[in-house]
Amino acid sequence: MIILTKYLENFDWEGIELHPYKDNDGNPSFKDVTRQTIFKEDKVNGLEVRYFEIAASGHTSLEKHEHTHIVVPIRGSGSCFVGNTVTELRLHDCVYVPSWSWHQFRASESEPLGFLCLVNAERDRPTLPTAHEVKELQQDSEIARFIRPRLINP
Ligand code: MN
Repeated sequence: MIILTKYLENFDWEGIELHPYKDNDGNPSFKDVTRQTIFKEDKVNGLEVRYFEIAASGHTSLEKHEHTHIVVPIRGSGSCFVGNTVTELRLHDCVYVPSWSWHQFRASESEPLGFLCLVNAERDRPTLPTAHEVKELQQDSEIARFIRPRLINP
């Protein structure tokens, strides 16, 4: 039983593989994102901790799902859209993404954004927005400027 995943340096953990982040069908609804699963608890209602890193000017997918996230930025700078709010992130902020809230994370233009993300190990798959849902989100001009959607049915 692993009780400690050792941090090496430079956002690298001992024995943890670096993966390109892909969504369900392998399509790029995100841009320039890597994922490391640092810890996964193999039991009912187990926990999982991932480290995601978005390259400068990249973003995660605009999505929603039943499961919740806790996100803690630990590298670089960026911003996020959660629910109906666009906000700048500071290192060590704690962002709660509630059930069925639209969310998207973006790195700044000049720096990556790296963050820890805590989730349930067993969870539902993300849903991408329909054209109609994107139109609704775009009613708000700040949200319209921020989001980079990929539609379910383009
Ligand atoms: Mn998500």
